[in-house]
Parts: sequence; C-alpha cells; structure tokens
Amino acid sequence: MIGTESAAGIRTFLYEALPARVVFGSGTIAQLASEAARLGMERALVLATPGRPGRAADLAALLGGRSAGVFAGAVMHTPVSATEAALRAVAEAGADGLVAFGGGSAIGLGKALALRIDLPQIAIPTTYAGSEMTPILGESKEGVKTTQRSLKVLPETVIYDVDLTLGLPPRVSATSGINAIAHAVEALYAQEQNPVTALMAEQGIAALSRALPVIVRDPADRAARSDALYGAWLCGVCLGTVGMALHHKLCHTLGGSFGLPHAETHTVILPHAAAYNAPAAPDAMARVACALGAGEAARGLYDLAGRLGAPRSLRELGMEEGGVERAADLAVERPYWNPRPVERDAIRDLIARAWAGLPPRTSPDP
Ligand code: NAD
Repeated sequence: MIGTESAAGIRTFLYEALPARVVFGSGTIAQLASEAARLGMERALVLATPGRPGRAADLAALLGGRSAGVFAGAVMHTPVSATEAALRAVAEAGADGLVAFGGGSAIGLGKALALRIDLPQIAIPTTYAGSEMTPILGESKEGVKTTQRSLKVLPETVIYDVDLTLGLPPRVSATSGINAIAHAVEALYAQEQNPVTALMAEQGIAALSRALPVIVRDPADRAARSDALYGAWLCGVCLGTVGMALHHKLCHTLGGSFGLPHAETHTVILPHAAAYNAPAAPDAMARVACALGAGEAARGLYDLAGRLGAPRSLRELGMEEGGVERAADLAVERPYWNPRPVERDAIRDLIARAWAGLPPRTSPDP
C-alpha cells in the first residue's frame, strides 16, 4: 500500500506535481533554438564540463543567433568558486538564458546560477543522474556540501535526446543508471510516498534494470539507450517530488566529506541502504524486487551492480578503512527522516560492509 490507508480503506496522500516541459526522443536537440525562443532567450550561454568542448560548441552553433557562447567550467558537487566564475562569464556575455548540457555537474551549475540571477534554463542531460527534474541544488564550499530546495532552480525546459547518450561510456552508464534507481528506491518508502510517484518509481527501476545490461554489452544500442533515458527521467521526477532518506544522506556525507565520486558511491551504498530499511518498508522492497525481477530487493541491487561490472566497494573508490568510523559519526550527527531509526552501530556495520564490498546484510541476518 502506497500512502496511508484508514481502517475504512480510504487512501490518504499528498501529491504535488512540479512544472516542467519535457521534450523526449531521438534528434530532439534540433529543437533547441525553438525551445530557447519559446522561453524568450535572445542570448543563451551553454554550460558544460571541460571534457567535451566540441559537443558544447555544436550546441552553441545550433542556437545560431541566440548563442552567447560556451562556459565549460562546470565541476562535480557544484563548488561555489566555479559558480562565481560562471557568473562573471554570464555578465561578460550579456546572457539572458542558460543551456546546461551534460550530467549533473553541468546541470548543477545552471541551477546555482538560476538561484542567484533567476535566468530561464534549458537542461540537456547526457547522463542518468536526474538533477534536471528536481528543484534541489547541492553546492560545495571548502569541503562542505549543503543542499537546498527552491523552485527557482528547476529548469523550465528539459530536452532529452537519446542520441546524446550513445557516447556515455559503459561504466559511467552503469553507475549513473544505478544512481537514478536509487532515487526511485527511496521514493517508494519516502515520507511523502504517493501512488503517482510510486508508479513512476516502479517503471523507472524496471526500465533501467532492463536496459543497463544491454548498454554495458553494446553502448550504441539505441532502444536500450532510449529505455534507460526514459527510466532516468522517471527516477529524476521521483527525486524532485518526494523527500529522500538514509541512502541519499549517506552518499551526500561520503561525497562531501571524503571526496568520493557521486554515481559510484550511490552504486556501492544502495544495496546496503535498501537492506537496512527493508524491515521497516516491506511493501516498498517487494515493489523494488518485482521491478528488478529479483527475489529480494537488496540482493537484487547488489547482483545488478555485479552484472554491470560496476564498483561494489568503497575501498575501490579510494576510501581509507579508517574513514568508516568518521562516516558513521557524520551519518548520525543530525537527525533526518528514515523509515527505520538511524542507529549508529547498525550504520557503522552498513558502511563497513559497503567498504569491504560484502553483500548487503539482508534479514533474517541479525
Ligand atoms: P557528471 O555530470 O560529473 O558527469 C560525469 C562525467 O561524464 C563528466 O566528465 C562528463 O563530462 C561526462 N559525460 C557526461 N555525459 C556524457 C556523455 N553522454 N558522453 C560522454 N561523457 C559524458 O556526473 P553525474 O553523475 O551526471 O552528476 C553528478 C553531479 O550531479 C553531482 O555533483 C551530484 O551532486 C549532482 N546531482 C544533483 C542532483 C540534484 O537533484 N540536485 C541529482 C543527481 C545528481
């Protein structure tokens, strides 16, 4: 049962849809100039990470007379220093709109700018992270990552073009896809769980878990790429619509305080967080297992990562074993909502298992 149910069998839930225009398909990038015009952009600045300058320049060319050039200085975890450099670029270019092109790092930069100067945004995601569908902005400053929600940061338009994902390397596709699945898993037991988000979560998990093994074998399989991007969209909506819990909190802590990479950390932690919460969220876990086509959710997630050749230990992400105690301390430092109470010893055990790459501790294990 998603939501709560009274003795008389009456459902109770709250559902709040977020405004967003979504253009999805193959070759949809050709609509960039018309979508920019629709938002009244006369001079749009393309934001990207430094890695793919040619692709960002192609996008600027597609904007034609509406282009204000490219700023390719986006960095993971959205450091405020990068945002300040981008603010100067916006002013110098006289930009009146933003086109964020790339993964969560480029999209995060667009959001950080929109928070400060409220320019309209078009997001063109090329990973499965899902940030484009959320009003959430995470920023880092001097090693501390903070998160806030504001409708100001939600992109007005999102263009999903399957063709732009064909070059995403198999390993990045796998971890980014599991990052998306994590949003859906936590949405199914979220405090604000509701039937619409649950449907999206189940569909998102099913689409990604079906598509990712195909993509790892054949990264250019367009049908699988389409399925994965569709799943990523659904999972992104889940993240934007309901609050997250233990899993996202742990990944946030590990990313912000230990400098671990975002999608890989989600991939390692997810089976363990699911196992931790399973006794308190049996219905959600049954839905996750069903969507994965697995007998049990946490083990199914661990096996999926294994099948994809994705990392399954924090050790292989470069974390020192000595960090386990500090990570456990940080994870319980400030209270937050979770279906199962967050207890330090059990969290320490979770992190230690994740560090070593052991399978998740599923019940009836003590
Ligand atoms: P990323 O944006 O850093 O991209 C990873 C790498 O892949 C980069 O080097 C990028 O240049 C490259 N890349 C991206 N698309 C490619 C493609 N199609 N082909 C080849 N290379 C490609 O990583 P990410 O995992 O997408 O995003 C992580 C960031 O997003 C983190 O900072 C995280 O906090 C944030 N995030 C925020 C939210 C939110 O709602 N606020 C949600 C998810 C992630």
